[in-house]
Amino acid sequence: MTNQPPDWLHFWQRPFPSANTLLIEDEKPVLIDSGFGRDVPALLRWLQRSAIAPERLWLLVNTHYHSDHVGGNAHLQSHFQIHIPAHRWEGQLINNHDPEAWSARFLQQPVEPYHVDQFLEDGDELVTGKHALRVVHTPGHTLGHLSFYLPEDKLLICGDAVHHDDVAWINPFREGAGALERAMQSLERLAQLDIRLAVSGHGPMLTRPQEAIERARQRYEQWVHEPEKVGWHACKRIFAYALMIHHGLLRDRVSDYLLSCPWFRDYSRSLFHTEPEPFVPLFLKEMLRSGAATWQDEPLVATTPYTISPDQQRTGVLLVSLLNIDRRGNKDGG
Ligand SMILES: [Zn+2]
Ligand SMILES: [Zn+2]
Repeated sequence: MTNQPPDWLHFWQRPFPSANTLLIEDEKPVLIDSGFGRDVPALLRWLQRSAIAPERLWLLVNTHYHSDHVGGNAHLQSHFQIHIPAHRWEGQLINNHDPEAWSARFLQQPVEPYHVDQFLEDGDELVTGKHALRVVHTPGHTLGHLSFYLPEDKLLICGDAVHHDDVAWINPFREGAGALERAMQSLERLAQLDIRLAVSGHGPMLTRPQEAIERARQRYEQWVHEPEKVGWHACKRIFAYALMIHHGLLRDRVSDYLLSCPWFRDYSRSLFHTEPEPFVPLFLKEMLRSGAATWQDEPLVATTPYTISPDQQRTGVLLVSLLNIDRRGNKDGG
Protein backbone atom coordinates (compact mmCIF):
# COMPACT_ATOMS: atom_id res chain seq x y z
CA MET A 1 0.00 0.00 0.00
CA THR A 2 1.48 3.36 -1.02
CA ASN A 3 0.82 6.66 0.63
CA GLN A 4 -0.04 8.40 -2.61
CA PRO A 5 -3.40 10.16 -2.53
CA PRO A 6 -6.20 8.19 -4.23
CA ASP A 7 -7.50 9.63 -7.51
CA TRP A 8 -10.94 10.47 -6.06
CA LEU A 9 -9.32 12.83 -3.58
CA HIS A 10 -8.62 16.25 -5.08
CA PHE A 11 -6.17 18.10 -2.88
CA TRP A 12 -5.30 21.75 -3.29
CA GLN A 13 -2.41 22.94 -1.19
CA ARG A 14 -3.16 26.62 -0.93
CA PRO A 15 -0.81 29.36 0.21
CA PHE A 16 -1.88 31.66 3.03
CA PRO A 17 -4.19 33.41 3.70
CA SER A 18 -6.31 30.41 2.57
CA ALA A 19 -6.30 26.97 4.12
CA ASN A 20 -6.00 23.87 1.94
CA THR A 21 -9.12 22.71 0.12
CA LEU A 22 -10.16 19.12 -0.54
CA LEU A 23 -12.74 17.57 -2.77
CA ILE A 24 -13.99 14.03 -2.32
CA GLU A 25 -15.23 12.87 -5.71
CA ASP A 26 -18.01 10.34 -5.26
CA GLU A 27 -21.75 9.90 -5.91
CA LYS A 28 -22.32 12.67 -3.35
CA PRO A 29 -19.28 14.94 -3.66
CA VAL A 30 -18.02 16.74 -0.58
CA LEU A 31 -15.87 19.85 -0.40
CA ILE A 32 -13.80 20.30 2.73
CA ASP A 33 -12.83 23.86 3.71
CA SER A 34 -13.45 26.76 1.36
CA GLY A 35 -10.46 29.05 2.00
CA PHE A 36 -10.24 32.76 2.73
CA GLY A 37 -13.14 34.89 1.45
CA ARG A 38 -11.06 36.98 -0.92
CA ASP A 39 -9.86 33.79 -2.62
CA VAL A 40 -13.35 32.67 -3.77
CA PRO A 41 -12.64 33.39 -7.48
CA ALA A 42 -9.61 31.08 -7.31
CA LEU A 43 -11.74 28.44 -5.54
CA LEU A 44 -14.39 28.63 -8.29
CA ARG A 45 -11.71 28.25 -10.97
CA TRP A 46 -10.30 25.21 -9.15
CA LEU A 47 -13.75 23.64 -8.88
CA GLN A 48 -14.29 24.30 -12.57
CA ARG A 49 -11.05 22.53 -13.43
CA SER A 50 -11.89 19.61 -11.17
CA ALA A 51 -14.44 17.03 -12.21
CA ILE A 52 -17.23 18.47 -10.05
CA ALA A 53 -19.26 21.60 -10.76
CA PRO A 54 -20.22 23.49 -7.58
CA GLU A 55 -23.92 22.78 -8.26
CA ARG A 56 -23.20 19.08 -7.80
CA LEU A 57 -21.65 19.39 -4.34
CA TRP A 58 -23.60 17.55 -1.67
CA LEU A 59 -21.90 19.13 1.33
CA LEU A 60 -19.39 21.80 2.21
CA VAL A 61 -17.82 20.66 5.47
CA ASN A 62 -15.38 22.70 7.53
CA THR A 63 -12.78 21.38 9.89
CA HIS A 64 -13.44 24.50 12.01
CA TYR A 65 -14.76 28.02 11.77
CA HIS A 66 -11.62 30.14 11.28
CA SER A 67 -11.68 32.64 8.41
CA ASP A 68 -9.03 30.81 6.38
CA HIS A 69 -11.24 27.68 6.28
CA VAL A 70 -14.78 29.08 5.89
CA GLY A 71 -14.32 32.30 3.90
CA GLY A 72 -15.87 30.85 0.73
CA ASN A 73 -18.91 29.36 2.53
CA ALA A 74 -21.26 32.34 2.12
CA HIS A 75 -20.65 32.59 -1.62
CA LEU A 76 -21.02 28.86 -2.28
CA GLN A 77 -24.14 28.63 -0.13
CA SER A 78 -25.87 31.64 -1.63
CA HIS A 79 -25.01 30.81 -5.26
CA PHE A 80 -25.27 27.01 -5.25
CA GLN A 81 -27.48 26.27 -2.20
CA ILE A 82 -24.86 23.98 -0.72
CA HIS A 83 -25.63 22.33 2.60
CA ILE A 84 -23.08 23.23 5.34
CA PRO A 85 -22.68 21.05 8.44
CA ALA A 86 -20.47 21.91 11.44
CA HIS A 87 -19.96 20.88 15.03
CA ARG A 88 -22.82 22.09 17.21
CA TRP A 89 -20.63 24.35 19.37
CA GLU A 90 -19.46 26.34 16.37
CA GLY A 91 -22.66 26.00 14.32
CA GLN A 92 -24.83 27.47 17.07
CA LEU A 93 -22.62 30.56 17.43
CA ILE A 94 -22.77 31.06 13.67
CA ASN A 95 -26.54 30.57 13.38
CA ASN A 96 -27.25 32.78 16.42
CA HIS A 97 -25.17 35.60 14.90
CA ASP A 98 -23.12 35.55 18.07
CA PRO A 99 -20.36 38.19 17.92
CA GLU A 100 -17.95 35.47 19.05
CA ALA A 101 -18.67 33.32 15.98
CA TRP A 102 -15.51 32.50 14.02
CA SER A 103 -13.59 34.40 16.76
CA ALA A 104 -13.89 37.04 14.06
CA ARG A 105 -14.01 40.06 16.37
CA PHE A 106 -11.29 38.76 18.68
CA LEU A 107 -8.98 38.13 15.72
CA GLN A 108 -10.20 41.07 13.62
CA GLN A 109 -10.80 38.68 10.74
CA PRO A 110 -14.35 39.27 9.49
CA VAL A 111 -16.22 36.37 7.87
CA GLU A 112 -19.19 36.76 5.54
CA PRO A 113 -22.11 35.10 7.41
CA TYR A 114 -23.63 31.80 6.27
CA HIS A 115 -26.00 29.29 7.82
CA VAL A 116 -25.06 25.93 9.33
CA ASP A 117 -27.66 23.39 8.17
CA GLN A 118 -26.70 20.38 10.24
CA PHE A 119 -24.85 19.75 13.50
CA LEU A 120 -22.20 17.05 13.51
CA GLU A 121 -21.01 15.01 16.47
CA ASP A 122 -18.16 12.67 17.17
CA GLY A 123 -18.85 9.28 15.59
CA ASP A 124 -21.26 10.56 12.90
CA GLU A 125 -20.70 9.18 9.42
CA LEU A 126 -20.98 11.04 6.15
CA VAL A 127 -21.50 8.41 3.47
CA THR A 128 -20.63 9.87 0.09
CA GLY A 129 -21.26 6.69 -1.96
CA LYS A 130 -18.25 4.42 -2.07
CA HIS A 131 -16.61 6.26 0.81
CA ALA A 132 -17.55 7.15 4.36
CA LEU A 133 -16.10 9.97 6.42
CA ARG A 134 -16.19 9.28 10.13
CA VAL A 135 -16.43 12.47 12.18
CA VAL A 136 -13.76 12.71 14.89
CA HIS A 137 -14.24 15.61 17.28
CA THR A 138 -10.73 17.01 17.86
CA PRO A 139 -11.12 20.07 20.09
CA GLY A 140 -8.15 22.19 21.13
CA HIS A 141 -7.34 24.74 18.44
CA THR A 142 -11.08 25.44 18.47
CA LEU A 143 -13.77 23.78 20.59
CA GLY A 144 -15.68 22.44 17.63
CA HIS A 145 -12.71 21.37 15.54
CA LEU A 146 -13.49 18.27 13.49
CA SER A 147 -11.28 15.75 11.75
CA PHE A 148 -12.58 13.20 9.26
CA TYR A 149 -11.33 9.63 9.12
CA LEU A 150 -11.82 7.25 6.22
CA PRO A 151 -10.95 3.87 7.77
CA GLU A 152 -11.12 1.88 4.52
CA ASP A 153 -8.51 4.15 2.99
CA LYS A 154 -6.58 4.82 6.21
CA LEU A 155 -6.90 8.47 5.36
CA LEU A 156 -7.24 11.30 7.87
CA ILE A 157 -8.37 14.85 7.13
CA CYS A 158 -7.17 16.79 10.14
CA GLY A 159 -7.51 20.54 9.46
CA ASP A 160 -5.48 22.51 11.99
CA ALA A 161 -5.23 19.63 14.49
CA VAL A 162 -1.95 18.47 12.89
CA HIS A 163 0.44 20.25 10.56
CA HIS A 164 3.56 19.17 8.72
CA ASP A 165 6.03 21.43 10.50
CA ASP A 166 4.08 23.49 13.00
CA VAL A 167 1.39 23.08 15.62
CA ALA A 168 -1.93 24.88 15.72
CA TRP A 169 -1.93 28.03 17.85
CA ILE A 170 -3.84 27.80 21.11
CA ASN A 171 -6.50 30.30 22.12
CA PRO A 172 -7.47 29.88 25.80
CA PHE A 173 -9.46 33.16 25.64
CA ARG A 174 -12.06 32.08 23.10
CA GLU A 175 -11.64 28.30 23.05
CA GLY A 176 -11.56 27.92 26.82
CA ALA A 177 -9.13 27.26 29.67
CA GLY A 178 -7.67 23.82 29.08
CA ALA A 179 -7.50 24.36 25.30
CA LEU A 180 -3.89 23.13 25.28
CA GLU A 181 -4.78 19.98 27.22
CA ARG A 182 -7.71 19.34 24.86
CA ALA A 183 -5.42 19.74 21.84
CA MET A 184 -3.07 17.16 23.35
CA GLN A 185 -5.93 14.75 24.05
CA SER A 186 -7.13 15.14 20.47
CA LEU A 187 -3.65 14.26 19.22
CA GLU A 188 -3.57 11.22 21.50
CA ARG A 189 -6.87 10.15 20.03
CA LEU A 190 -5.65 10.58 16.45
CA ALA A 191 -2.53 8.58 17.37
CA GLN A 192 -4.79 5.56 18.02
CA LEU A 193 -6.03 5.53 14.42
CA ASP A 194 -4.51 3.46 11.65
CA ILE A 195 -3.50 6.23 9.21
CA ARG A 196 -1.28 5.99 6.15
CA LEU A 197 -1.90 9.48 4.82
CA ALA A 198 -3.19 12.64 6.45
CA VAL A 199 -4.33 15.86 4.83
CA SER A 200 -3.61 18.91 6.94
CA GLY A 201 -5.24 22.33 6.76
CA HIS A 202 -1.94 23.96 5.82
CA GLY A 203 1.16 22.72 4.07
CA PRO A 204 1.75 19.42 2.30
CA MET A 205 0.05 16.08 2.93
CA LEU A 206 1.49 14.10 5.81
CA THR A 207 2.98 10.91 4.44
CA ARG A 208 4.24 9.95 7.90
CA PRO A 209 1.22 11.09 9.87
CA GLN A 210 2.00 9.35 13.16
CA GLU A 211 5.41 11.04 13.31
CA ALA A 212 3.80 14.44 12.76
CA ILE A 213 1.21 13.72 15.46
CA GLU A 214 3.92 12.70 17.92
CA ARG A 215 6.05 15.79 17.13
CA ALA A 216 3.06 18.03 17.77
CA ARG A 217 2.18 16.22 20.99
CA GLN A 218 5.73 16.61 22.32
CA ARG A 219 5.79 20.31 21.49
CA TYR A 220 2.50 20.90 23.29
CA GLU A 221 3.76 18.89 26.25
CA GLN A 222 6.65 21.36 26.66
CA TRP A 223 4.18 24.23 26.63
CA VAL A 224 2.23 22.83 29.59
CA HIS A 225 5.11 23.89 31.83
CA GLU A 226 5.93 27.09 29.90
CA PRO A 227 2.65 28.89 29.21
CA GLU A 228 4.48 31.90 27.74
CA LYS A 229 5.34 29.66 24.78
CA VAL A 230 1.61 29.31 24.08
CA GLY A 231 1.47 33.11 23.97
CA TRP A 232 4.53 33.69 21.78
CA HIS A 233 3.44 31.07 19.28
CA ALA A 234 -0.18 32.30 19.07
CA CYS A 235 0.68 36.01 18.88
CA LYS A 236 3.25 35.45 16.15
CA ARG A 237 0.87 33.31 14.07
CA ILE A 238 -2.09 35.65 14.48
CA PHE A 239 -0.09 38.77 13.68
CA ALA A 240 1.71 37.19 10.70
CA TYR A 241 -1.72 36.26 9.35
CA ALA A 242 -2.96 39.83 9.88
CA LEU A 243 0.07 41.15 7.99
CA MET A 244 -0.86 38.83 5.11
CA ILE A 245 -4.48 39.87 4.92
CA HIS A 246 -3.54 43.56 5.15
CA HIS A 247 -0.60 43.00 2.81
CA GLY A 248 1.75 44.66 5.30
CA LEU A 249 1.35 47.45 7.83
CA LEU A 250 3.12 50.79 7.75
CA ARG A 251 5.58 51.50 10.55
CA ASP A 252 3.48 54.16 12.25
CA ARG A 253 0.30 52.04 12.04
CA VAL A 254 1.71 48.90 13.64
CA SER A 255 1.38 49.95 17.28
CA ASP A 256 -2.17 51.33 16.88
CA TYR A 257 -3.20 48.22 15.03
CA LEU A 258 -1.87 45.86 17.71
CA LEU A 259 -3.43 47.88 20.53
CA SER A 260 -6.80 47.75 18.74
CA CYS A 261 -6.79 43.93 18.66
CA PRO A 262 -8.58 42.05 21.46
CA TRP A 263 -6.24 39.08 20.98
CA PHE A 264 -3.17 41.26 21.57
CA ARG A 265 -4.58 42.73 24.76
CA ASP A 266 -5.64 39.34 26.12
CA TYR A 267 -2.39 37.53 25.40
CA SER A 268 -0.19 40.35 26.71
CA ARG A 269 -2.10 40.72 29.98
CA SER A 270 -2.84 37.07 30.74
CA LEU A 271 0.16 35.19 29.40
CA PHE A 272 2.93 37.80 29.61
CA HIS A 273 1.51 39.72 32.61
CA THR A 274 2.31 42.94 30.75
CA GLU A 275 0.07 45.82 29.75
CA PRO A 276 -0.44 45.89 25.96
CA GLU A 277 1.42 49.22 25.40
CA PRO A 278 4.81 48.15 26.82
CA PHE A 279 4.36 44.71 25.20
CA VAL A 280 4.28 46.20 21.66
CA PRO A 281 8.07 46.81 21.33
CA LEU A 282 8.93 43.46 22.95
CA PHE A 283 6.57 41.67 20.62
CA LEU A 284 7.83 43.44 17.48
CA LYS A 285 11.40 42.65 18.44
CA GLU A 286 10.48 38.96 18.66
CA MET A 287 8.57 39.05 15.33
CA LEU A 288 11.73 40.38 13.65
CA ARG A 289 14.21 38.22 15.59
CA SER A 290 12.31 35.02 14.77
CA GLY A 291 11.99 36.00 11.12
CA ALA A 292 8.17 35.88 11.23
CA ALA A 293 8.07 39.44 9.85
CA THR A 294 10.45 41.83 8.19
CA TRP A 295 10.47 45.50 7.17
CA GLN A 296 10.15 45.59 3.41
CA ASP A 297 11.20 49.19 2.77
CA GLU A 298 8.32 50.83 4.63
CA PRO A 299 5.61 48.25 5.51
CA LEU A 300 6.12 45.43 7.97
CA VAL A 301 5.31 42.23 6.09
CA ALA A 302 4.97 38.54 6.86
CA THR A 303 7.83 36.36 5.64
CA THR A 304 5.72 33.20 5.11
CA PRO A 305 4.70 33.05 1.43
CA TYR A 306 1.15 34.18 0.76
CA THR A 307 -0.96 35.28 -2.18
CA ILE A 308 -2.69 38.58 -2.80
CA SER A 309 -5.48 39.20 -5.24
CA PRO A 310 -4.97 41.72 -8.10
CA ASP A 311 -7.50 43.98 -6.33
CA GLN A 312 -5.59 43.80 -3.11
CA GLN A 313 -2.38 44.63 -4.91
CA ARG A 314 -3.92 47.84 -6.18
CA THR A 315 -5.47 48.76 -2.83
CA GLY A 316 -2.27 47.84 -1.01
CA VAL A 317 -0.21 50.24 -3.10
CA LEU A 318 -2.91 52.87 -2.86
CA LEU A 319 -3.09 52.49 0.89
CA VAL A 320 0.67 52.83 1.24
CA SER A 321 0.73 56.00 -0.86
CA LEU A 322 -2.32 57.50 0.88
CA LEU A 323 -0.83 56.91 4.29
CA ASN A 324 2.46 58.46 3.16
CA ILE A 325 0.56 61.56 2.04
CA ASP A 326 -1.31 61.53 5.34
CA ARG A 327 1.90 61.50 7.28
CA ARG A 328 3.42 64.34 5.28
CA GLY A 329 0.22 66.35 5.32
CA ASN A 330 -0.42 65.66 9.03
CA LYS A 331 -3.93 64.54 8.23
CA ASP A 332 -5.84 61.93 10.12
CA GLY A 333 -4.95 58.66 8.43
CA GLY A 334 -7.90 56.82 10.04
ZN1 LIG B 1 -6.00 27.28 9.46
ZN1 LIG C 1 -7.53 27.55 12.56
